[in-house]
Amino acid sequence: MAAPVSGESGSGARGDSGSGAPGAESGEFCPGFRDVDAFVKHGLGTVVSATKAAGGLPQPGDEFDFYRSFPGFQDFCAVQGERLLHCMSQLMKHHGCRSHINDKNKLTGLEERFDLVVESNDVILEKVGIMLDEASGVTRSQPVMPAGYQPPKIVVSSWNRKGGNRSTETFHLLHAKNIQRPQLKFKDKVDNSNTPFIPKISVKPNAVKPLSSYFTNKQLRNERPEDLDVPPALADFIHQLRTQEHMDDMFSHPYQHELDHLVMSESLRIKPEPQIYKPLEETSCKFIDTLEDLVDLNEKLTRSKEFAVDLEHHSYRSFLGITCLMQISTREEDFIIDTLELRSEMYILNESFTDPSIVKVFHGADSDIEWLQKDFGVYVVNMFDTHHAARSLNLGRNSLDHLLKLYCNVDSNKRYQLADWRIRPLPEEMLAYAQADTHYLLYVYDRLRADLCDAANGQSNLIHLVWSKSKDLCLKKYVKPIFTEESYMELYRRQKKSFNSQQLAAFRLLYAWRDKLARSEDESTGYILPNHMMMKIAEELPKEPQGIIACCNPTPPLVRQQINELHQFIKQAREIPLLKVNWLRIILIIIFVVLQSESTLFGPHDTSHVSESDLMELSFTGRSNFLTSTLTVLCNIILSVEEMDSGHLTVAQQKAHSIMESFENPFRMYLPSKDIHISKNAKYDPSSKIYEISNRWKLQSIEQQKKEAQAKQQAKQHAKEQERQKAKKNYQESLQDVSTVRQQIVESKQVGQKRERVASDAGEENLKQNKKIMKTDKGTPSSEFTPFDYSQSDFKVFAGCESCFFFFFFFLTSVLAHSSWASGIQAHLCTQDISEVVPCRYSDISYKKY
Ligand code: AMP
Ligand code: MN
Ligand code: ZN
Repeated sequence: MAAPVSGESGSGARGDSGSGAPGAESGEFCPGFRDVDAFVKHGLGTVVSATKAAGGLPQPGDEFDFYRSFPGFQDFCAVQGERLLHCMSQLMKHHGCRSHINDKNKLTGLEERFDLVVESNDVILEKVGIMLDEASGVTRSQPVMPAGYQPPKIVVSSWNRKGGNRSTETFHLLHAKNIQRPQLKFKDKVDNSNTPFIPKISVKPNAVKPLSSYFTNKQLRNERPEDLDVPPALADFIHQLRTQEHMDDMFSHPYQHELDHLVMSESLRIKPEPQIYKPLEETSCKFIDTLEDLVDLNEKLTRSKEFAVDLEHHSYRSFLGITCLMQISTREEDFIIDTLELRSEMYILNESFTDPSIVKVFHGADSDIEWLQKDFGVYVVNMFDTHHAARSLNLGRNSLDHLLKLYCNVDSNKRYQLADWRIRPLPEEMLAYAQADTHYLLYVYDRLRADLCDAANGQSNLIHLVWSKSKDLCLKKYVKPIFTEESYMELYRRQKKSFNSQQLAAFRLLYAWRDKLARSEDESTGYILPNHMMMKIAEELPKEPQGIIACCNPTPPLVRQQINELHQFIKQAREIPLLKVNWLRIILIIIFVVLQSESTLFGPHDTSHVSESDLMELSFTGRSNFLTSTLTVLCNIILSVEEMDSGHLTVAQQKAHSIMESFENPFRMYLPSKDIHISKNAKYDPSSKIYEISNRWKLQSIEQQKKEAQAKQQAKQHAKEQERQKAKKNYQESLQDVSTVRQQIVESKQVGQKRERVASDAGEENLKQNKKIMKTDKGTPSSEFTPFDYSQSDFKVFAGCESCFFFFFFFLTSVLAHSSWASGIQAHLCTQDISEVVPCRYSDISYKKY
């Protein structure tokens, strides 16, 4: 929280923390501090030294393990850890956040604790944002940029970044209200479809391993789902079918091989002589917006040894965000590329960006790496991230403005970081800001390397560490936000509200509506309907459209436009009954699951054990037996809830559906939600296209399995028959042949052995076949597919499939132990006031049971 303020005050972070010595003046801001500045200075000093100290702790891995072997160190860690947790807990409580971080009884895992910290940071930052807005006189009725401007969900580390000191004046000054949407000019349409991101690469310069055929096959690539003249859901589905065989290539990192085999160049090992930057005023800054200039620049870059790169991005008026600018600095020149203009041509830079002999210097490249892939299909091989270098040096603060102050004595101004970078022509001051972002970076890179060398006593291990972390960043793959039926629960869990079933249903509908609209209109979800407004509507369930408008101030344009549709959603949600769930029954079943899993896992005959479950009669091998029976029981939990609420399809039921569907179609998760694109009626209406296709899918896979089984059986019978014929022939030959008695004996022995083998083969075969019959009987029902009848399934998915095994193991453990899924179900089921049932957590029950 302190860091953003420091951005404004520049150097104020270090040193004179204790020098305030304010005495006993009457007008003290707070005890011991003359004014706010003194307080902030002191606070910053403390934060910086704490950060430094934290950075100085032994690294995880060998170093830490070594220290841990000393009891003194262990005690120290325990005491300090306790203090820290207590302190954090107090802070969280103070801000009204969930704060059981220090509560050992809760058995909260590291992950959950981390979530708590992130959550609390969000809360605190939001409060700060609101206060800053209020202090600078911004009301919530600003028409264009709502207060609490939300960064897109992909910028997950925003709270940890330097840009919190957003000056609201900057927005007023530079947010032009009527910017033409740059998307309209893009040569390639933006792909907002609900399918995973596929790399935009068709040529691969500097390849050691050639690009896979999927990317070089133009026809395949051009068949994009959004170009098909069918409804989006169908397009996505067809796309899935077509691209199945290229799955691995499509989702792999195009430069994985090159990055895996990259070695750090020798020149990085030696301590460099820092090469001072050219004064900013004397450096030419070329604005590049033609292909010709871009080609020239690329050629220049390929001749260089290193260059610095930065990007500016816009994420408010686009679903996936748009990279608006790329800044590049060599030792002599600066360049600013208009990436809105050259978006489709940027890929040519891969020649220099993936050249392993050229170092690309970035500062905090996490997002940049993703944006380069997402918008241009550009990858980076051989990168040096100055942010990571600063971290390894344990500088306390790792922001670019801090490094510029430290090494170049430049007071940078991060004022324009969140400006609207789509503006064209760019105002002088924004251009100057953009230029300064990379201008000094190569010099900073030199200085950091020199310091890293010194810090490692002339060795290169620290530099190697930074280089290696930077390489890991380059391996990062852009992941597109995918809408699933569970997406809304993620957001719901992050809020600290408890919704009843009607509120939750409204929230789910609004969330789906927002996602669909954001994709089709190519707007951010925050532009369509900010989170806090969506929560408010769901919470209040306004009876009239006017009530919905009242929840949104300022009313987002698309909310106003589609107010009737939103009104219908709320009406629909209000019709959902508030039914009670038989919790006792669920608890009993959970206990049953635990008992059964114990007896199955630890029982004496677990491999040949036949499940005793009275819910079904299945015969499986040991581990799948355990998994399937417990899974089945779990599904029955869901189903038992379903019985109680037969009219409305609850989220729990949908979950059961999707579990079942994932058996038949492993790509289910990539398909759009039924709620969003496919009307349920269409799916079950035999006259609809969707029905036909989804059935064809099911039938195809069933038929495939049948065919395979038949083919195998035929092959075996054929082999058997041949063996028999051969034996017969041998025998007859042996009779005809004039041979010695000894030979005859030997020969007849051989035949006998063969016969025996044939006989035992046949016996085994019979056994196998019997087994198979048992399985196929259940596995490939000739009748219609019945989604919920688990006893009819052979759960082939488990047999010999390690990943599935682990998936379900994980699934199970998370249900039994971490309860996130269980609490999810609980929330889904909330047919009584959720605040009443929250204390009863599945985790508590199962832990006790264990
Ligand atoms: P920078 O690397 O600092 O130039 O930032 C690059 C881009 O990241 C900016 O154009 C913004 O789109 C985005 N960005 C930077 N800081 C933040 C922040 N604190 N919150 C949200 N977005 C940010
Ligand atoms: Mn950047
Ligand atoms: Zn920048």
